[in-house]
Amino acid sequence: CGIVGYIGHREAYPIILKGLQRLEYRGYDSAGIALYDGSNIKLSKTQGKVADLKERLENEISTSGSLGIGHTRWATHGVPNDVNSHPHYSNSGDLVIIHNGIIENYEAIKTELIKRGYTFKSDTDTEVLINLIEEVKKKENVKLGKAVQIALNEVVGAYAIAVFDKNKPNEIVVAKLGSPLAIGVGDEEFFIASDASPFIEFTKNAIYLEDEEMAVVRLGKKIKIRKIKDDSLVNPLMQELKF
Ligand code: GLU
Repeated sequence: CGIVGYIGHREAYPIILKGLQRLEYRGYDSAGIALYDGSNIKLSKTQGKVADLKERLENEISTSGSLGIGHTRWATHGVPNDVNSHPHYSNSGDLVIIHNGIIENYEAIKTELIKRGYTFKSDTDTEVLINLIEEVKKKENVKLGKAVQIALNEVVGAYAIAVFDKNKPNEIVVAKLGSPLAIGVGDEEFFIASDASPFIEFTKNAIYLEDEEMAVVRLGKKIKIRKIKDDSLVNPLMQELKF
């Protein structure tokens, strides 16, 4: 029940792993991390503790990369097991998502996506959402941020999500409704997390998304926050963390 993300100039893996450990208090049954190493997404996930993930991941994949997302899962749709753990890929393998919350109308969307040829590895609502995003992106021929926005307007439920596209590895798209989502703003680097504890040692500047807001977190750009429903721009409110 926690999310962590990083994009910048540091190695993402140690930041994400430590961040997940700091979010362990939120409770969870599985954990996983996806990293982008400059050419590919590498992903490792497992039922169990973050310590189990660490052991498995370091055997399975190389930990290099300065873009990544990590998740601790509190299963709502689909039993706690390795396959249902996050992150989840889209069918093309280009997009990857982490999600806290529930997509209530996932069955209807899944049925529609299956009709259009999509297949599903897991029983989660989350894998439905990432494939809906992929379908919208292809059909409407829009950028990832726009595709996430259109998809979320078709969704009923609650979420904190982080998504990235391996073909666009300079940005992470995040959105919030119900579950918490904080963005840490550093110097040419951004942190994403359920609360500020994963990034407090790197930056004191944080933006907390409000419900029904989304942001495209892109290197070299100012963060753009929008209302998911009406697309209006929101002025980012930067808070100074005091610890
Ligand atoms: N509904 C999602 C699942 O069951 C996310 C659960 C969570 O918040 O960790 O996989």
